[in-house]
Amino acid sequence: MTTSAMHHRVLIIGGGSAGVSVAARLRRARVDDIGLVEPSDTHYYQPLWTLVGGGCAPAKESARPQASIMPPGVAWIKDAALDIDPDNRTVTTAAGARVTYDQLVVCPGIQLDWEKIPGMAEALRTPAVSSNYTYDLAPKTWQLIRDLRSGTAVFSMPAGPIKCAGAPQKIAYLAADHWRRQGVLGDIRIVLVLPTPGMFGVREFAEELERVAARYGIEVRTSSEVTEIDGEGRRIVVTDHAGGTREDIGYDLLHVVPPQSAPDWIKATALADPGSPAGYVEVDKHTMRHVRHSNVFALGDAGSTPNSKTGAAIRKQAPVVARNVVAAMRNQPLPASYGGYASCPLTTARGRTLLAEFDYTMRPTPSFPLIDTTRERKDMWYLKRYGLAALYWNLMLRGRA
Ligand SMILES: Cc1cc2nc3c(=O)[nH]c(=O)nc-3n(C[C@H](O)[C@H](O)[C@H](O)COP(=O)(O)OP(=O)(O)OC[C@H]3O[C@@H](n4cnc5c(N)ncnc54)[C@H](O)[C@@H]3O)c2cc1C
Repeated sequence: MTTSAMHHRVLIIGGGSAGVSVAARLRRARVDDIGLVEPSDTHYYQPLWTLVGGGCAPAKESARPQASIMPPGVAWIKDAALDIDPDNRTVTTAAGARVTYDQLVVCPGIQLDWEKIPGMAEALRTPAVSSNYTYDLAPKTWQLIRDLRSGTAVFSMPAGPIKCAGAPQKIAYLAADHWRRQGVLGDIRIVLVLPTPGMFGVREFAEELERVAARYGIEVRTSSEVTEIDGEGRRIVVTDHAGGTREDIGYDLLHVVPPQSAPDWIKATALADPGSPAGYVEVDKHTMRHVRHSNVFALGDAGSTPNSKTGAAIRKQAPVVARNVVAAMRNQPLPASYGGYASCPLTTARGRTLLAEFDYTMRPTPSFPLIDTTRERKDMWYLKRYGLAALYWNLMLRGRA
């Protein structure tokens, strides 16, 4: 193992949606000496994986070389962070390097806890189970949907914050729409298992989703979770937390979403929220600054802010973090504030999307005030399929949107 020492005025952990967006913004603000710790060769636009699973986009369209999206002038430390010592302003990496910093931005994303549901990890290796939550598995989802002509299909969502809370149900609607077009919808029982008491946290969007689910004849189990999976036997246990009941259901297709939490190594640092087992980096929900360490910021899926964990939220968080980091470097008061904006383009059919936009108030906050975005729409499908990806690659990752 090699040991070396480095120092950067700003050090960013994670070169995903959040890390690259902040790095690009800081470069545009003429901050020099930025280091970015990122172990992966490939950068993924994860929102496309829903469309990959629904047979509407190829997986490879979601992946680009990390080198191609790194902002010029940023030092790429191609390594994984392993520990953070905020008192000594030091990050230790897997290769044994010690990197010190003046300001730290923490955004290594979220951890997929497959093993938290008994049988889930093993079931993914069986022929009838998939998940859009990994690049490798999303194409399998489409293969399963395409091949199913009759039987029972179950789509599940776990309890607790997850990235893109709408994704577990989006794929159910794309599947149902495909089966409707194939004329086999009537032969397929669809069960959607949701841990929440309703279909969505914002009433206006929940009402539309109830109509969509009813249109496809989907059985929605609210306040419920898949708590056991027998992949070989193709059976699951659904626990209804409201009714206190457990039901055994056989399936022919199962789409699972794993419980999620902060990466284990983040949970073990002094930056983690001690009050939450999920262990996210504990920051102020408006300034994005750490509540105990004034030269540490966090954003994206690894942060504790109570917004919906989406790339859309990061689009609004990144400029706030960049402005506040610059102010912190100058020992000035923090000028920027994040209001909790997030958006979730809920694909309700091939060619239809409900663009749910909201903030900390949990009220709709539409970007297009002249049209009714509380209804599924064709134009929002094109925005989801083509517009948002272009916005992401060409503007957001370059610090321009
Ligand atoms: C199926 C699916 C559908 C989605 N749909 C939407 C959608 O429609 N709209 C939307 O806005 N969002 C959507 N999202 C959510 C969105 O993709 C995430 O919220 C966003 O990517 C989070 O950005 P991030 O930078 O926090 O994490 P990521 O983009 O996951 O990046 C984390 C980065 O940190 C790196 N890293 C990990 N560990 C370390 C370490 N130890 N040291 C250094 N680096 C490390 C990783 O390699 C990665 O590059 C979806 C996600 C999924 C999975």
